[in-house]
Amino acid sequence: ESDEESEQLQYKVILLGDGSVGKTSIAMRFTEDYFGKSYKQTVGLDFFVRKVTLPSEIDVTIQVWDIGGQTLGGKMINKYVYGAQAIVLIYDISNYQSFENLQDWYALVKKTFNGRLMPYVALMANKADLSHIRAVTPEMHNEFADANEMCSYFVSAKTGDNVTTTFYRVAADLAGID
Ligand code: GDP
Repeated sequence: ESDEESEQLQYKVILLGDGSVGKTSIAMRFTEDYFGKSYKQTVGLDFFVRKVTLPSEIDVTIQVWDIGGQTLGGKMINKYVYGAQAIVLIYDISNYQSFENLQDWYALVKKTFNGRLMPYVALMANKADLSHIRAVTPEMHNEFADANEMCSYFVSAKTGDNVTTTFYRVAADLAGID
């Protein structure tokens, strides 16, 4: 394997989920190791990039795409989703509706790919630091992940817990590394 080949590994990862679940915060935490109280309401093309080195010295550039303020009904969503190697469905453990709506987000993804090869899809529970006000139990989380055969993760963009390891895991899965 030549150097050029290993340098070309690049994965487009799209973060999907309701507004305020923490998509921008997760993207910022992973790429800048930063957590802020508010971010400008982004409209349109926003992606964040971080280069990581996986086991066996495999360099991967991870592009994390933030859909900004777009909602389930947004007309642009399919443009983002199309061409993604991975989709991370995100909800906020303190917001039940954000979990329930993942059914619709996932349905939208399946509709977009419409029989073509689906990207890798993972489930991410954010705001794990708010477990004292959790509205979604780990059982509900696991049931959804199992029913859809998704790898799933609990993270906190606020504390940084598990954010980086989750993206490494996703990239490793995409690269076919254990
Ligand atoms: P987005 O609309 O999905 O991009 O969500 P944002 O990243 O803008 O976050 C929405 C709000 O949730 C902001 O006030 C964040 O500070 C807050 N937030 C994001 N992640 C976390 C987290 O892990 N824990 C807590 N407690 N708040 C968070």
